[in-house]
Parts: sequence; structure tokens; C-alpha cells
Amino acid sequence: MTRAVEIVEVSPRDGLQNEPVGLSTADKIALIERVIAAGARRVEVASFVNPRRVPQMADGEAVVAGLPNRSDVRFTGLCLNERGVERALAASAAATRGLDEIGCVLVATDAFGIANQGQTVAQGIAANRAMIAAAKLGGLRAQVTIAASFGCPYEGAVAEDHVLGLAEAMVEAGADEIAFADTIGVAVPAQVASMVANARRRLGDDFPIRVHLHDTRGMAPANAWAAFQEGCRTFDSALGGLGGCPFAPKAAGNLATEELVYMFERAGIATGIDLVAAIDTNRWLAERMGKSLPSRVGRVGDFVPHPPQEQECA
Ligand code: ZN
Repeated sequence: MTRAVEIVEVSPRDGLQNEPVGLSTADKIALIERVIAAGARRVEVASFVNPRRVPQMADGEAVVAGLPNRSDVRFTGLCLNERGVERALAASAAATRGLDEIGCVLVATDAFGIANQGQTVAQGIAANRAMIAAAKLGGLRAQVTIAASFGCPYEGAVAEDHVLGLAEAMVEAGADEIAFADTIGVAVPAQVASMVANARRRLGDDFPIRVHLHDTRGMAPANAWAAFQEGCRTFDSALGGLGGCPFAPKAAGNLATEELVYMFERAGIATGIDLVAAIDTNRWLAERMGKSLPSRVGRVGDFVPHPPQEQECA
């Protein structure tokens, strides 16, 4: 099937990193296999960050070692520094399948950058340049997510022009794709539309861009739609709407994969993801997490008309 949009399934990483109940390595692999079976062809599988700060992701090497041997799926490992890239490359080299891509993160503001990874924006630019170079030297693709692109929990508003300048610097450094992340879930559709439209103008219509949205204020599906209208074709989402950020106060889960698939498929825009299979995996994951997941489509299911009931509605 031709996909009109591409969904990057981030539940194994962004979805789980903030959950009090950790998933076993075997269950993470099972989750990755299930989202692929549901149709995902890009999966963010692990992160290589300080295990003392994010213990849920401490088994990155083991997850990479257990990745299914699929040539039609792009696997991404998230890294916040050069040490992380070294770990990801080593894990990848030792594995049968390994990773295809390093996901780097550049935080758009000094205050959030210092809280998230102990570096200012200027230090982040230098670190990301080195990370991109190291990833490429190791034979992998490198993409950069610009965190807090639409607002910072500490500094407030973030200027679009500043974010687009960071994007240009990363493209110049060799990034294969740029994602604009609403890390804390403050963006509104007008803002996302403007960012995507101007990013395409400044980076070129053909340069791959992606959006990473959190649904803290219920705007994530509308924001994704706004990005699509302006020409963005790649979207991060997490099954069940799981997720959060340990360093972003009050941030809620990721845009749910189920919401994204429902929204696009009902508009006749192919995602390649089977909603029923995704919801099945939502149930499977909820059982393992010991709670129901936030996705509303996941909760009520696809739109399927039922015959009228005998009782009248009150
Ligand atoms: Zn996120």
C-alpha cells in the first residue's frame, strides 16, 4: 500500500520512558513486533541516555540486540550526547539487525536545555554537530528533533525564527531530517501551520520534516492536521497516547497513534497502519502497564455503526 503519510511509532521510547511501571526487555521487543505487525515501518526503539536519570531505558543495548530482522522497517535509537551515539553504534554493530538511524535532540532554549541535558543552546548545537558526524561515520542516518520548538516550560514563548535558524544549522551539519517537537504540549494549530510552512520555505520543499506532538491540552490531533495541510508528511506518535517527559513539568502523553490513524484514514489519507491491530496492541500494552491508556480512539474503537437498541436514549 502506498502511504500518504508516514508514522514514526515512538511508544517503545517516548511512550515508556516516564512510566513508573517499566516494561521488561522481552515485552519491549514484543511491543516493537506488534507495532510492525500493525503496519509501522519506522519505530523509535530505545534511547541511549544516562540510565540513572532514565532507568526505564537502561536496557537499550538488549533491545537493539533483540530487534526483529526486518529490512522494510527503519529503527531509530535516541541519543542526547556523543556518549549515547557511541553506545548506540556499538550496540548496533554487535546486533544481527541493529539500528538504521540515530535520533539527536537539540533543545531550543537555554533553560530547558540545562534542565534536560545540562547544556545551553550553543553547547547543544556543537554537541549535535558532533553526534551527527559520529552517527554518519558509523554508517547510520542522523536526524535531529528540536525540543520545545513551540514553547518552553521555563522560558515561555519560543520565537519561530530562532527555531528555524536552529533547523538550518542542523541541516548544514548533515541532519537527514528535522523534527519540530511540542515537547510539553502547548502548541496550537496556527503556530504549527506557520512553523511547517516556513520550515519548508527555508529548508526547501523536499527536505524531510516531521512533527512530534504531545496532547497535554488536547491540541495534538488538530496540530497534526495543521502540519499536514502545510505539507508535513511524517508524524511521531505513541500507541495509546503514552508518554511524558521527566524534565517537562505537567507534560502529558504523546499524540496517540490511534487518533492519528483514525483522523487520516477517515480523510482517505493512507497511513499503512491497521487501526484494529493497533487497538489490539493498546489492550495488550494496557494489561502489561496495569492501567488503561489515554488514547480516546483506543478506548472507544473505530467508528462502526450499530443497529438501534430497544431502549430509548434518555
Ligand atoms: Zn516527546
